[in-house]
Amino acid sequence: MHRPAIPPQPHTGGCLCGAVRYRFDARPWAVNACHCMDCKKLTGATNLLMILGPREAFTHDGATARYRKRADSGNEVDIVRCAACGVRLWHEPATAPQLVIVAVGTLDDPSWAIPTSHIFTRSVSAGVVIQDDALVLRDGPTDRRALFEAFDRIYGR
Ligand SMILES: [Zn+2]
Ligand SMILES: [Zn+2]
Repeated sequence: MHRPAIPPQPHTGGCLCGAVRYRFDARPWAVNACHCMDCKKLTGATNLLMILGPREAFTHDGATARYRKRADSGNEVDIVRCAACGVRLWHEPATAPQLVIVAVGTLDDPSWAIPTSHIFTRSVSAGVVIQDDALVLRDGPTDRRALFEAFDRIYGR
């Protein structure tokens, strides 16, 4: 699997209408694809590709709207969208205040982001490519460290 280098930080991005812009000034902890049914609904696509990293390195401008989603596990996550165009931009897990989860498709340059892990592959859609060096989990991770370790194994630390 050829993987382009991760470009230098900061990683910038925003929504479709341009009202919300963000800046993520850190190296990612993971590039994860989620294939769960909720992510299919929330993206309107077959899966959500996201980068995970430190929330303290993430800032934004512009008006957002939040939707608090409760998972089957009982974990709650705030899904943050542009208040004007509704694009899903990032997640803030209530149980992990140190973590931000950014939707890769909203990056200004999403070209380098190839999954280092895939989760909830029990509901993977036909046609999705799974990289041979990526971690593959049938369900969710019991601990996000598994996702971070997969990233470190592939890109080094
Ligand atoms: Zn917008
Ligand atoms: Zn999901």
